[in-house]
Amino acid sequence: MPKDFDRSDCFTVEGKLALPYTYFAGKVGSKFITTLRDQKKILGIKCKTCNKVFIPPRQTCALCMEDMRENWVELKNEGEVSNYTVVRYDGKHLPRKAPFILAMIKLGGADTPMAHILEGIQPEEVKIGLKVKPIFARETTNTILDIDHFEPL
Ligand SMILES: [Zn+2]
Repeated sequence: MPKDFDRSDCFTVEGKLALPYTYFAGKVGSKFITTLRDQKKILGIKCKTCNKVFIPPRQTCALCMEDMRENWVELKNEGEVSNYTVVRYDGKHLPRKAPFILAMIKLGGADTPMAHILEGIQPEEVKIGLKVKPIFARETTNTILDIDHFEPL
C-alpha cells in the first residue's frame, strides 16, 4: 500500500471468521489413518510400475500416474532421519510448543520420507541417518498424531 494512501475514503469492517468444515481424506487416506488407529500399523502404498513405496500413501503414483490404491505395504516400525529442522515459533496449528524437532523420517520399506515430530534427543545431537522408532499415542485422535512422535532407537 502506498505511503500516501488515504484511508478516509475507505469503508472497512474488522471481524473474525470461523469456518467449520469436514475434511474427507479419501479412501486411501482413510485406510492409512484407520489402520494406524486400530492396528498401530503404518502402511505405505506401492507402485507396481515404478516399484516405489510411498508414504503417506496416495491413490495415484506421482511418477507414472499408475493407480496404486490396492497395493498396500506394511512398513517397519523403524526408520531413519533423512532431514530435520527445529521449529522455533509457536502457532495454534503446530502440534507442540516450540522448540521441537520436525524430522523427515524414512521408514523401513518406504522410498519416501514422512514428516513427524522427533523427541528424546537434543536438536544439536540429531544426525542424518539417526535410527528412530514410532511411539504410538495412548489415545487416538484419528489423525497422524496417533503416532505421538518418533524417538531414537
Ligand atoms: Zn509409478
